[in-house]
Amino acid sequence: VIYIRNINHFFGKGSLRKQVLHNINLDIYPGEIVMMTGPSGSGKTTLLSLIGALRSCQHGSLKVIGQELCNAKPNQLITTRRQIGYIFQGHNLLDSLTARQNVELSLELHNHLSANARQAKALRMLQAVGLGDRVNYYPENLSGGQKQRVAIARALVANPKIILADEPTASLDKKSGRDVVELMQNLAQEQGCTILLVTHDNRILDIAFRVISMEDGSLT
Ligand code: ATP
Repeated sequence: VIYIRNINHFFGKGSLRKQVLHNINLDIYPGEIVMMTGPSGSGKTTLLSLIGALRSCQHGSLKVIGQELCNAKPNQLITTRRQIGYIFQGHNLLDSLTARQNVELSLELHNHLSANARQAKALRMLQAVGLGDRVNYYPENLSGGQKQRVAIARALVANPKIILADEPTASLDKKSGRDVVELMQNLAQEQGCTILLVTHDNRILDIAFRVISMEDGSLT
């Protein structure tokens, strides 16, 4: 579902030009749960953003859900983005919306669903992450683990084929961190989706099917 060949990535121009990814090769198969580790600044987030079609790929070949993203047109990137669920550091919930409204945002592009159907889907997803009694709470009234679970519900509600998660347990204690990752896995397995998760967190690595590590812009 993710096929990467000889990806190189550069930031900056002229004398400031710096190579941050070196000759990356990686295959991730449907239904796999892969964790990526590596020191700060090694290029993990950059690679995740290329795979997530959030940054355009300059060199090599990167196929995500059958679509070549290297030198792809903006509308091709958008089509790919709609099939991906993102869970990023610091959960990025909108403070002015309730848990349910935050989850519903992900369904906004699904025009075929009525407002009622979107609401019902968001409710079911929040129940699935154990927040059935918190649907009308605003983020400020939820704990770190609960907010992260809202972020998971938001990422999964539109049935993505791939979940990309960047440090989803960074701000959580050990128990909540494991709970959050196990929950992601269970839901993803039910929906048959693939997970690529960046983490420094040694406490959750044993949950992965496969661990890959990045160092100085290369996979080791
Ligand atoms: P962390 O674990 O700290 O999040 P990371 O492994 O995810 O780090 P990246 O964020 O991918 O690392 O950064 C890789 C390198 O690219 C770093 O040296 C960083 O300074 C540089 N970099 C990242 N984004 C940009 C940018 N927009 N412009 C220029 N350099 C950048």
